[in-house]
Amino acid sequence: MDALKLVIILPEYNEEECIEDTTGRLLSVIENLQQEKLITNDSFIFWISDGSTDNSWKLIEKIHSEKPDKVKGIKFSKNFGNQKAILAGLFESYKYGADCFISIDSDLQQDELKIKEFIQKYKSGAKIVAGIRNNRETDGIIKKITALAFYKLMNILGVNLKVNHSDYRLVSRDAVEALQKFGETNLFLRGIFNELGFKQDYVYFDVKPRKYGKTKFTSDKMFSLALNGITSFSIVPLRFVSYVGILMSIISFIIGFSAWWEKVFNNSTIPGWATIIVTIGFVGGIQILCIGIIGEYLGQLFQEVKSRPRYIIEKELK
Ligand code: UDP
Ligand code: MG
Repeated sequence: MDALKLVIILPEYNEEECIEDTTGRLLSVIENLQQEKLITNDSFIFWISDGSTDNSWKLIEKIHSEKPDKVKGIKFSKNFGNQKAILAGLFESYKYGADCFISIDSDLQQDELKIKEFIQKYKSGAKIVAGIRNNRETDGIIKKITALAFYKLMNILGVNLKVNHSDYRLVSRDAVEALQKFGETNLFLRGIFNELGFKQDYVYFDVKPRKYGKTKFTSDKMFSLALNGITSFSIVPLRFVSYVGILMSIISFIIGFSAWWEKVFNNSTIPGWATIIVTIGFVGGIQILCIGIIGEYLGQLFQEVKSRPRYIIEKELK
């Protein structure tokens, strides 16, 4: 196979401390791969500035003016979130005619030297190569537990996701074309790429501690990503609501029948107000939970139906 044209996709949100370092390190990865004749000389890196309010876009512009062929990018009009930044990176760099695209976190916590392995897996036939993290040592205890619970829950709900899947990923041109047909506003890329059905392979990598700044993935953003993952790939929670409803009706019918029986045949009044109150509280709780689950899907539907643009580009460095 001939050398491939590669684009490295870098979403960033207020990462001014690492823009220069990351660009330098990735350009040297690109250079090495070019020397090994694995990728073409017009391969480049593509920054997506996701509504940063710090100096990062200025830095990207500066680097672009020095090396316009090697560093390109776009700037969002506001913060749209990391999933949309990756999506925009794929769609907007597509027009430069690359063969494959690799997204990686701009803090380079993910080992950039594994890029070669991604390319080798692509050359041996995989259309999507997903990065799987070996460890979660860099995460706090809460993130570790919630992440693990999330993957377990997704599997129970019937979504086939590999544990510790990340957005460090190689995607072929065919896969980007297929992805363009998905019009979802709320994106959970790890799920969507599974859905495409192309041949997948995996690269295992170690996660390093963050070198500069702090995480841009607040718990709030993590939670909404996880909920999107569930509500856009599984209807099991909705079905669960129906089952609970049916079960509750059967139980209440039995309770009603037994109360009637006691009254008519034994003429005994039922003692135990407490039981009644507890039951009412319990059923009320279940109902609110169920309405909440339905609300999540309704919210998802509401956002999809409006079909607003998924991102808005304010500036572009060609
Ligand atoms: N990021 C982004 N938009 C956001 C939040 C994060 O583009 O709204 C980028 C961030 O700059 C980084 C990547 O997504 O390049 C992963 O974020 P981070 O390293 O903060 O997450 P963590 O490694 O802590 O999970
Ligand atoms: Mg990080």
